[in-house]
Amino acid sequence: MSAVDDLLAVQQEDTTTDQIRHRLANLPERATLEAVLAERESTESDRDALRLERLELDRRQKRVEADVEAVVSRIQELNDRLYGSGISSPREAREIQEEVDRLKPRQDNLEERVLEVFEEIDPVDARLGELDAAAEAGDEVIVEAQAALNATEADLAEELVGVRERRDAAAAGISADVLDRYDRLRRTFDSSTVVGFDGSGCRGCPSAMPAVEVDRVKHLEAGTLTDCAECGRLVVR
Ligand SMILES: [Zn+2]
Repeated sequence: MSAVDDLLAVQQEDTTTDQIRHRLANLPERATLEAVLAERESTESDRDALRLERLELDRRQKRVEADVEAVVSRIQELNDRLYGSGISSPREAREIQEEVDRLKPRQDNLEERVLEVFEEIDPVDARLGELDAAAEAGDEVIVEAQAALNATEADLAEELVGVRERRDAAAAGISADVLDRYDRLRRTFDSSTVVGFDGSGCRGCPSAMPAVEVDRVKHLEAGTLTDCAECGRLVVR
């Protein structure tokens, strides 16, 4: 290959590198991963809120159950006295019976409240179960999405290595001076740093190449590299 062909090959590999980097920066696999991570985070925050709610219900349940237990044990204690042998008078027996009679409706009422708490707990537990399942499924989806992203990134990284090797091989055939000029000009002209000459002008020029410049390039040997005096690109005659 001629030095000009090598330079065009370098330019081609640089363009490919840019395309791969652009793909790497905009991978749909990354967007997918970000979406599933956001979804998982939302599930987690719903679950945290619901767990707090569940904890509060648990406290209420224990509180009401403790109240029930206190009433039941008081009634038990009163009944033990009532049916034991320590009663000293009918009046005392009546007073104990009256207290038992007062406590019974309270026991019923408290037991009712225990059931109410259970009724509140049921849907919360059901929803928590759904969120647990969603969290587990979400974790699996995240692992898959991460693996897909890693695989694509690895493929593209490998492609970049190949591009780098081909570029290095092509650059070896170019003089340091030309390569240096190309590298500097590429910052401005990107993938059209080295352009062809179509017989009437430089392909990179935004407007017509001046006639005297066209004439100069025309008289160069085919395959010669020159600068376009109009736009500043490297032109291959
Ligand atoms: Zn030009």
